Amino acid sequence: MKVPFVDLKAQYDSIKTQIDEAIYSVIENTAFIGGEMVSKFEKEFAAALGIKHVVSCANGTDSLEIILKAWGIGPGDEVIVPGMSWISTSESVGSTGAKSVFVEVDENGLMDLSKVKSKITDKTRAIIPVHLYGNSVDVPALMKLVEGTPIKVLEDCAQSHLSILNGKLSGTVGHAGSFSFYPGKNLGAYGDAGCIVTNHEELAVTCKMIANHGQQGKHNHVIEGRNSRLDGLQASILSAKLPYLKEWTSKRIQNALLYKKHFGDFDRITLPMITDSGQHVYHLFVIRSSQREDLAKFLKLKGIETAVHYPNPLPLLNPYRSYNSVEDFMSVEKFSKEILSLPMFAELTEEQIIYIVASIKEFYA
Ligand SMILES: *Cc1c(COP(=O)(O)O)cnc(C)c1O
Repeated sequence: MKVPFVDLKAQYDSIKTQIDEAIYSVIENTAFIGGEMVSKFEKEFAAALGIKHVVSCANGTDSLEIILKAWGIGPGDEVIVPGMSWISTSESVGSTGAKSVFVEVDENGLMDLSKVKSKITDKTRAIIPVHLYGNSVDVPALMKLVEGTPIKVLEDCAQSHLSILNGKLSGTVGHAGSFSFYPGKNLGAYGDAGCIVTNHEELAVTCKMIANHGQQGKHNHVIEGRNSRLDGLQASILSAKLPYLKEWTSKRIQNALLYKKHFGDFDRITLPMITDSGQHVYHLFVIRSSQREDLAKFLKLKGIETAVHYPNPLPLLNPYRSYNSVEDFMSVEKFSKEILSLPMFAELTEEQIIYIVASIKEFYA
């Protein structure tokens, strides 16, 4: 049996009419940049999260960087980031001229909150918790930690659309949140897309200005900004997909439960754990195995696609290795060597899950 890692075509086939109509209407109206479709999606996404402001932009890396810049973060400043994430998290810090200060991770690969306090210096301007794989970082605890200080909390929600922590949706608890709508994300466009979410109006206004050449109204360039806009086609596709996000998320959760059911008490691998505070939305279904490489090879021969998110500890990558050493990031090092992402998407069938689980059991037999 062939099992792909994700199947974006299956999703398209399930809502083909809505997507095709959305695309044609943008072309008919020549609303390519900005325009009605973009503000419509911003309003819809704000309603879905129950947040005051959504500012769309070109991708989920820009959204992180734009927020940091709007807070005036730059050279000489420090931003605390987890040692396990996609590089965008630290890259956005570097793009402002500030320095990424990495933290060890817990058994879920999330920023180890017990280690954050010791990283705070008088240069610390922000902390970026990443809701890795769709699991939730305890952001309320972080908000408590920074209470009474000027330090900001920026939630990286690129993998956590509709994940819940302490009864609240991710992105709505920190000072601001950043979303990616990269095609493979839980809510994906058909190209690059992203957005900033916040309840703080002033921040939203500044972010919007930065993302559109520093303009406040046409030709009034208040500051030097940049070009990071969401285009009409992507906005219309996102609007067509948004009504299905809840259903797709439940299906991911159901599939995770099916994996757990069929693994039963099999204890040669470690299954993903849900943090106490939240609801996991399984952007990725990541298991841990001390024989990761051999297991991945075996599954490939069985026709099962897997991936590793991420094979190299962030602090030890070339841009950061000059000031980080492996001894300081043993938890990240160990985690990165053991993780394996199994196929996970709404349309995955129980039959496929049974086959994947049986193949893993066969590898260990
Ligand atoms: C995907 C991702 C991003 C960046 O998103 P892009 O839209 O690809 O720029 C940022 N952070 C994390 C954790 C991601 O997974």
